[in-house]
Amino acid sequence: MTKRSVEAVLAPPPTHMVGDGFRVSNFFPQGYNMPKDRLSPFFLLDYGPPVDFSPREEPRGVGVHPHRGFETVTFGFKGRVAHHDSAGHHGVIGEGDVQWMTAGSGVLHKEYHEQEYSRTGGPFHMAQLWVNLPAKHKMEAPRYQSITRADMTHVQLPDGKSEAYVVAGELFGTKGPGKTWSPIIAAVVRLGAGGEADLRLPSTYNSTVLIVEGAAHINGSHAPTDHLVVFRNDGEDVHAASDAGATLLVLSGEPLNEPIAAYGPFLMNTYDEIQQAYTDLAAGKFGVLED
Ligand code: MN
Repeated sequence: MTKRSVEAVLAPPPTHMVGDGFRVSNFFPQGYNMPKDRLSPFFLLDYGPPVDFSPREEPRGVGVHPHRGFETVTFGFKGRVAHHDSAGHHGVIGEGDVQWMTAGSGVLHKEYHEQEYSRTGGPFHMAQLWVNLPAKHKMEAPRYQSITRADMTHVQLPDGKSEAYVVAGELFGTKGPGKTWSPIIAAVVRLGAGGEADLRLPSTYNSTVLIVEGAAHINGSHAPTDHLVVFRNDGEDVHAASDAGATLLVLSGEPLNEPIAAYGPFLMNTYDEIQQAYTDLAAGKFGVLED
């Protein structure tokens, strides 16, 4: 076994608003001008560090918009989000929950603060990841996986202080319930005070760890709150330790090694396919969703 080296510990880029409900830092691809395939199959990470929203009767959020060719995966840490899409799926993501939506051939969706959360306001903390689909799966029918914390595979770690929730793929010798279209590991690791964890991420997989809470020492680097650790693909082993406790979002996946054509809400292999997406959208092929 060989240790993976840390390529960079990235501070969160300045935040911007998505709609009026999501205040996010884009770590990639724009935030640090990374090559579009640097973290393939992951294409985009919008991280919403903790923020307090004031109470409001009318929920904040993002109105109806399309997607094709990839998946939107939303990780809830604080606050609640309601999702509706034109494939008839509806769900609420709360603390510790994950929503894994395959846009595939195309959906319209909207994402708003859940009504009760909006009325009371308070802490809000989320991340949205875009997972690219392999060319052969880009036009699959839309799919929606609601993966609550209770659905995740819970692992007590050997240090007796830390635990993990495996969302998808295999980590700590156990598999998560999430279905993916290419090999992916996604997990939340909660290090207790003085805790540590040993993660094995296949050396060919592009891998990152987002520090959601607390701070950690990861393979010789100090990683503060809200920072993203990007690894080189030069080994498997990642050792994470924390003095006062930390929550880590672990994302690791086999690169797709296919051309990327990205424009607006679409993620395809060629710009002809992007053009086709706009044509199909105008022709009503993404279905109907009321605002
Ligand atoms: Mn969206």
